[in-house]
Amino acid sequence: MYEGPVQDLIDELGRLPGIGPKSAQRLAFHILAADAEDVMRLAATLQLVKETVKFCEVCFNVSEDTRCRICRDPRRDATTICVVEESKDVVAVERTREFRGRYHVLGGAISPIDGIGPADLKIRELCLRLADGTVTEVILATDPNLEGEATATYLSRLLLPMGVRVSRLASGLPVGGDLEYADEVTLGRAFEGRRFVEAS
Ligand SMILES: [Zn+2]
Repeated sequence: MYEGPVQDLIDELGRLPGIGPKSAQRLAFHILAADAEDVMRLAATLQLVKETVKFCEVCFNVSEDTRCRICRDPRRDATTICVVEESKDVVAVERTREFRGRYHVLGGAISPIDGIGPADLKIRELCLRLADGTVTEVILATDPNLEGEATATYLSRLLLPMGVRVSRLASGLPVGGDLEYADEVTLGRAFEGRRFVEAS
C-alpha cells in the first residue's frame, strides 16, 4: 500500500477492465515518472471524451451527435441491421467493407455469471426498430464465444416470430475470441457466408 494520491491512482487504474493490481501499479508509476505535459493531455482527453462523446439514440454506437454518422448516412441500407456487442465491433465490421447496412450496438452480451441479462442490453430498443417493417434482415454478429452464442440464440428466438430474416456470421472466426480480433479477410468471409437461422 502506498500513501494517499498514489494509492488512489493505483485503485482507479485497477478498476479498468483487464488491469490487475500489478499492471495498475506499473501504470501508476509510469504516470508518476512521465512529463507533466503528457499527463495533463491524457487527463484533458479523458475529460473531453466524457463531455462530448455520446451514444447514438438509434443504434447506441458512440457518436458526437444525437445520431451517429452511419445512422445519418442515407446511402446506408436501412433494411439490414447488423447486431454487435460493442462499438469497437462496428469499427471491425466497417474495416471489412462488406456491409452497407446499419448497426445496433447491444452494449455487451448475455452472461449470467456476470449478472448480465437481456434487460441489461439494448434488446428492447432493437425490437422497437423492427416495428415499422423497414428492416427485413438482422445479422447477428456477436462474438464467437459462449456469451456471444447465447446472446445470438436468445435474439433469434425473439426476432424470428417478428417476421424478419435472421442470419448468423459463418463459422471460421477464431472461436472464443472477440470479433475485433478477427482479421478483415476472415470477418469479410464470415459476412459473405452468413447462414440464415430457421425457426425451430
Ligand atoms: Zn447510430
